[in-house]
Amino acid sequence: MERKVLPHNHSSNEEHILENLPTIDDCRMVADIFKQISDGTRLRILWFLCHCEECVSNIAAAMEMSDPAVSHHLRTLKNTGLIVSRRDGKEIYYKLADTQVADYVHRICEEIFHITCPLE
Ligand SMILES: [Zn+2]
Repeated sequence: MERKVLPHNHSSNEEHILENLPTIDDCRMVADIFKQISDGTRLRILWFLCHCEECVSNIAAAMEMSDPAVSHHLRTLKNTGLIVSRRDGKEIYYKLADTQVADYVHRICEEIFHITCPLE
């Protein structure tokens, strides 16, 4: 990558910072994750799936929402890779993805909002 030079020289380590500047695509990926947890309803569904694997109807019942409304949130959560699904006969079950990002999101939610993790 071409070496950037800033017009003003205010700090001594800006060269090192610029060398490590994340790409816009990296930032978009992270922003997409934060977008998922920026919606209270979706965050509540995600938190639920951090602790159990459930089908759409049971998730909807737990959230007191309609199946289509829950399905919409599950689709976007799955597209971001935060949850995974598996089909068993007619049912599709959802749970938190087994990734470091998903685990971080689980921990961050509980730390920030002082929610007790039922798995601990
Ligand atoms: Zn937890």
